[in-house]
Amino acid sequence: MSRENRWTQYETAQRAGLNALAEDYKNFLTTGKTERECVSEAVKRAKKAGFRNLEEIVKNKESLKAGDKVYAVWMKKTMALFTVGTEPIEDGLRILGAHIDSPRLDLKQVPLYEDTELAFLDTHYYGGVKKYQWTTIPLAIHGVIAKKDGSVIDVRVGEDPGDPIFCVTDLLIHLSKDQMGKTLGEAIEGENLDLLAGSEPLAEKAGEPDAEKMENEKASSARELVKEHVLRILKEQYDIGEADFLSAELEIVPAGAARDLGFDRSMVASYGQDDRVCAFASLDAFLRVENPEVTSCCLLTDKEEIGSVGATGAQSHFFENAVAELMDRCGQYSGLGLRRALSRSKMLSSDVSAAFDPLYAAAYEKKNSAYFGHGIVFNKYTGARGKSGSNDASAEYFAWVRRVMDESGTAFQTCELGKVDVGGGGTIAYISANYGMEVVDAGVAVLNMHAPLEVTSKSDLYEARNAYRAFLQA
Ligand code: MN
Ligand code: MN
Repeated sequence: MSRENRWTQYETAQRAGLNALAEDYKNFLTTGKTERECVSEAVKRAKKAGFRNLEEIVKNKESLKAGDKVYAVWMKKTMALFTVGTEPIEDGLRILGAHIDSPRLDLKQVPLYEDTELAFLDTHYYGGVKKYQWTTIPLAIHGVIAKKDGSVIDVRVGEDPGDPIFCVTDLLIHLSKDQMGKTLGEAIEGENLDLLAGSEPLAEKAGEPDAEKMENEKASSARELVKEHVLRILKEQYDIGEADFLSAELEIVPAGAARDLGFDRSMVASYGQDDRVCAFASLDAFLRVENPEVTSCCLLTDKEEIGSVGATGAQSHFFENAVAELMDRCGQYSGLGLRRALSRSKMLSSDVSAAFDPLYAAAYEKKNSAYFGHGIVFNKYTGARGKSGSNDASAEYFAWVRRVMDESGTAFQTCELGKVDVGGGGTIAYISANYGMEVVDAGVAVLNMHAPLEVTSKSDLYEARNAYRAFLQA
């Protein structure tokens, strides 16, 4: 297979388009570091492009017709967008599906504790992480605290230059003889991924009611004044008490904005590019499609990194329900029609692939690897230990996809996730395939996947966006 580097082939106008897309992408990454933030941002972009909330259309009993644009959101963490086509929906949809959750550290329900006059926030990691990568880097807290009175407080601290940040500590090298003898997997324990969050004891003013109360409860020497100080600040800033952590979703993510990487600025370095690079490219492609023949859909899903489970994961009935509502508003709903629509759909499961890393060449098989600058990556199958757990796209469907790519002049490559039996992974492809629809994994190659700082090629982002658009319009 001959391989050409796309960078050598761009004309001036393409370069301008590529750079504009990459700038927009970096903003998307910086704005959306959690699934909730990504949904908010996608809703904002959709509204700007003329999309309306399907829930309101259902409530108002409005009907929809070809060319109409709607979106549906579930629990603020997953969403589906549709542009109604001229063809009957039961003939199938054209679907781009990406996930908007990323590996991170989540605060436990009872997170705050004090030990030796330091306050910490205890976490439970989410998704596949190499734990050592999360120590001694600047971290931010993003999420929500839901209170008993029904109010929901947004939290985002660690991003503005004036904000404090947080970190997970690690043992100094001078005292690490024992730790350095452990394996990478054992050197940092999951239970030790706790966030350093304070060190100054509460200074009490005489006569304060809560100070008097606490004085009665505990002898002064036994009190945890550093923790109390943190709680005092949380009360002042967010009007929350310690019990409000019980009903919070607070995600610990790397602090800071997405950046260009390299002297040539050809790459993007950022947290959360698995899978927001595909979510962004899919959404951008989808929003550009006007008056399609086949009904277009962009699905942004949650919980992929922990098995696509729960009410907002790809295994939930949210998507199927949204298509049913859409068909109903179009006057096209029937139980059988819905089944036909889903089984006759074509989908690109927009998820990332491993980029070939020459420093770790032994993990890859060179002719079936993905390379920066070589276009969107198709994985016919994923899985582990003999393709286990994989959607294996049909040959006929992938032949159709190849034709669409070639006719639109979009660069593509194919790969497997590393050498046989060195590991493996999965996507949402197999879940959609349960309906009988045609699905193949299609996304962007990523270096440092699942690390706090992931790297992608701007050229691959551009080719992926163009590939997604070609797919929707073919
Ligand atoms: Mn992924
Ligand atoms: Mn992943």
